[in-house]
Amino acid sequence: MSFRFQVEAREGEARAGRLFTPHGEVQTPVFMPVGTLATVKGVPQDTLEELGVQVLLNNTYHLYLRPGVEMVRQLGGVQKFMSWDHPILTDSGGFQVFSLSDLRKVTENGVAFRSHLDGSSHFFSPESAIAAEISLGADIIMAFDECTEHPAEYARTRDSMEMTLRWARRSKEYLEAHKHEVPWFAGRGESVQTLFGIVQGGMFADLRRESAQRTVELDFPGYAIGGLSVGEPRPMTYEMVDAAIRFLPPDKPRYLMGVGTPEEIVHYVAMGVDMMDCVLPTRAARHGLLFTSEGRITIKNARFAQDDGPLDPNCRCKVCARYSRAYLRHLYASNELLAQVLNTIHNLAYYLDTMRRVRQAILLGEFAIFLSGVRPPHLSVS
Ligand SMILES: [Zn+2]
Repeated sequence: MSFRFQVEAREGEARAGRLFTPHGEVQTPVFMPVGTLATVKGVPQDTLEELGVQVLLNNTYHLYLRPGVEMVRQLGGVQKFMSWDHPILTDSGGFQVFSLSDLRKVTENGVAFRSHLDGSSHFFSPESAIAAEISLGADIIMAFDECTEHPAEYARTRDSMEMTLRWARRSKEYLEAHKHEVPWFAGRGESVQTLFGIVQGGMFADLRRESAQRTVELDFPGYAIGGLSVGEPRPMTYEMVDAAIRFLPPDKPRYLMGVGTPEEIVHYVAMGVDMMDCVLPTRAARHGLLFTSEGRITIKNARFAQDDGPLDPNCRCKVCARYSRAYLRHLYASNELLAQVLNTIHNLAYYLDTMRRVRQAILLGEFAIFLSGVRPPHLSVS
């Protein structure tokens, strides 16, 4: 058995469930930390396990450029390469090609782009992107899509959405023909990777709905909503999620890509999202921005210089158990490596704990009460 999704409890639109993958089980709703280059920056894998990380996201674009997907394949796949014997999800590289690389040229066949590292020329098609994802060997992989730029006109957004649908079909056909090439195929009971389709449609509700309906017609085991959190106002993000998610099948997992703040992820669960990833907790941590039960903290602030209290008195992570705000401020102000490590551990703990509490509340039928205590996300700063 390769992949299965089971909904255990529902409250309103929110769901608690379980994903079964070749490298283990994932309890949903789940937050997936971003490990761009097969590492969550500054945090060793054993610490990720202690934190209760269930599934990591790796970026195909980055691993394709460095160290190269063929090398990872020869080393047994990305789980073995990074010594993470748990589920991994890879994106298709589409988003990074559109956001990071220079001189990209998009045609029906795919995207020609230059590496942001050395300017070398590369080409991703739906087929070559899926080939890269097969070589990496993540448990869950994403169809190659075009992340429509924002803002974009209606006609342009429709054309882009149509191409993403054609690319989704090509992605699926390529995986179907090559699924046995995943590096761990023989060692995992001949199980294969799971491919999610991606809903696009820019900032137009009718295109979001149509994209969802037609992606579902292609029949994927799970669905992602992409192309959001690209600079649009937050109420629009909610409107677009709402426009798409009601057309996704209730028995398949739903993944909202690239969101959000701790308050927002709770509200996306309330809309029926099962999986989320975001660079925010890890990137913000490296810049000294910490999420706590008492609000956001900028640790470099001088008012923490003599504060011997814990970062977050309600957090049970090992950073809050051991170190003071004064010490964390000192590390950050001194540009010590440990500042980034400890800050990242705490922020991840805060996100993961939030999601665990959300899941528990859904299982107990208390999610509405939980949600009422979370500040409306459109008032929060992102
Ligand atoms: Zn903590």
